[in-house]
Amino acid sequence: MKSLIDKLERNSVLSKDDYTFLISGFDNETSEYLFEKARNIREKYYGKDVYIRGLIEFTSYCKNNCLYCGLRCGNKNAQRYRLSKEDILECCKNGYELGFRTFVLQGGEDPYFTDERMLDIISSIKSEYPDCALTLSVGEKSYETYKAFFDAGADRYLLRHETADNEHYAKLHPKEMSALNRKRCLEDLKSIGYQVGCGFMVGSPYQTAENLADDMLYIKKLQPQMVGIGPFISQHDTPFADQKNGTLELTLFMLGLLRLTLPYALIPSTTALGTIHPLGREKGILAGANVVMPNLSPVSVRKKYLLYDNKICTGDESAECRRCLEQRMRSIGYNVVVSRGDCADKK
Ligand code: SAH
Ligand code: SF4
Repeated sequence: MKSLIDKLERNSVLSKDDYTFLISGFDNETSEYLFEKARNIREKYYGKDVYIRGLIEFTSYCKNNCLYCGLRCGNKNAQRYRLSKEDILECCKNGYELGFRTFVLQGGEDPYFTDERMLDIISSIKSEYPDCALTLSVGEKSYETYKAFFDAGADRYLLRHETADNEHYAKLHPKEMSALNRKRCLEDLKSIGYQVGCGFMVGSPYQTAENLADDMLYIKKLQPQMVGIGPFISQHDTPFADQKNGTLELTLFMLGLLRLTLPYALIPSTTALGTIHPLGREKGILAGANVVMPNLSPVSVRKKYLLYDNKICTGDESAECRRCLEQRMRSIGYNVVVSRGDCADKK
């Protein structure tokens, strides 16, 4: 096991068989060995800095029906809301005062937010906060739409590929959705010039160690600037209500492998990780992650953006989340910094 991790450290990639062997057989000792190497590499590129992203969950409407997600259109119990442009700008104002220099607009695929409305929001944010990076995470669009958003000032785009394996993808999504289109979107985003983030859930239903190995190889090939991974967590009003959650141990192990595979990447320690363990986000940083994404949405809507059950931080004001994370990072010897937090190696 350890010799495979040495090999990964040397070559920044392994064969599918080697990844699969590690993922299916790792133990505590192997994890600790991996995490130490992951921390060393992340410190080489980013020191002890932790970048923060202000997450604005601006709509809980979604036309899609992903089987795992609480916002799926088939969930008639979901509470739906939309933030107005003024609400969104207010979140940014709040966030800017709190030291955020990246805003992430995330939402379901909501037809109300036409290209025209999005372009207005994007250009307003960029003209008021020219020193900030703007990240979008609003799902699958055409090349033309992505290009227009980019030309209006969007800098980055988060679109998890969810799983690189076509058959696995089909088990997590309705038949209208495809891994092929998801990957087409990621290619388009890269070619337009966005800093791109892909990613996947760890422990999603039907996922195998081979699937995870394929995810690593897909990511290696795509060379994104960011990779977001977090445990799958069941949501009680979805078809996956009774499925098991992803584990802390496997999520951390995948974070460590990711850091060795893409040394320069921006890798968040996610809210989902903090949801399955009280110290999940701290542990994520100690396994090689270097970003946290606290919530800037108004408290009044926080409990309505429930992708999964028991989501943390749904009752706290933004300032409280910011302070809490700063303390958590300091407790493990890392520092939250006021910075756009660009990728160390913009490939
Ligand atoms: N609609 C956009 C962005 C919002 S969903 C999109 O789908 O890209 C953002 C991410 O939340 C998804 O990519 C998925 O990986 C994650 N997610 C959804 N449901 C989840 C669940 N039950 N457990 C963990 N993560 C989930
Ligand atoms: Fe909609 Fe995204 Fe949830 Fe899928 S994962 S149902 S696209 S919000």
